[in-house]
Amino acid sequence: MTEILDLSHIRLGDRPLIVCDVDDVVLHFVAPFQDFLRGEGYQLLPRSFRLTGNIVSIATEAALEQTDVRRLIEAFFEAQENWQVPFDLVIQTLEGLSSEADIVFLTAMPSRYREQRRRLLDRVGLAFPLIASDEEPKGLIMRRLHADRPLPSVFIDDMAHQLQSVRDHLPQSLLLHMMPDSPLHVLAPKPAEDIVRATDWPHAAALIRAHIQPKAA
Ligand SMILES: [Mg+2]
Repeated sequence: MTEILDLSHIRLGDRPLIVCDVDDVVLHFVAPFQDFLRGEGYQLLPRSFRLTGNIVSIATEAALEQTDVRRLIEAFFEAQENWQVPFDLVIQTLEGLSSEADIVFLTAMPSRYREQRRRLLDRVGLAFPLIASDEEPKGLIMRRLHADRPLPSVFIDDMAHQLQSVRDHLPQSLLLHMMPDSPLHVLAPKPAEDIVRATDWPHAAALIRAHIQPKAA
C-alpha cells in the first residue's frame, strides 16, 4: 500500500524554495557510518557504490547479508545523534539563505527515525522543516510542494537518481550536486553533465543566489 506522503506541515511563503537532501549534503553520513561499523566489528570496503556486499567482518572478511546491512543502517539512524555532524559552513550558509528563500529538508532516511533527526537538526541550529520521503521519488514530492508557483526553486542532493527525478518532474528547478569526497561517492553514478557540482556550501550559496535573486532590468 502506497500512502501519499503528508506535506501539510510545510508552509511556504511567497518566495523562492530551496529543497535540500540531508545525508552526505547537510550531515555527514558515510564517514561516521564507517566509524560506527568499525565499532561493531565491520568495515566498509569501497569496491562499488552500494552497501550490501561491501560491508565485511573485520575478523573473517565475510560480507554481510542484506538483512544484516539493513539492521546496521537502522541502528546507525537510531543512534544518529551520537554520530552525525554537519558539514563545514552549512549552518551559516542556510541561515543566510533563509532570509531570501524557504528552506525544506527532504531526506530519504526511513521516516521512523524522524524524531532523532529532528532533534539533531534542531540541536545544531537547523530548524528548517523536514520531510522523510521514504520510497517516494523526490521529484514527485518537490512537484507537489512547488507546483506551478512562478518562483525560482533549487534542489540539492548527492544522488544522481534524485537529481534526475527532480529534473523529470520540475525541470525549471536549479539542480545542484553536492557530495563528500568519500571513496564510496567516487564510485557513484554521475549526474547528467549539465548538473553543476557545488564543491562546498559557500560555492552552493553563490550558485543559488545567482539563480534566485531577481535579475536587474
Ligand atoms: Mg544524501
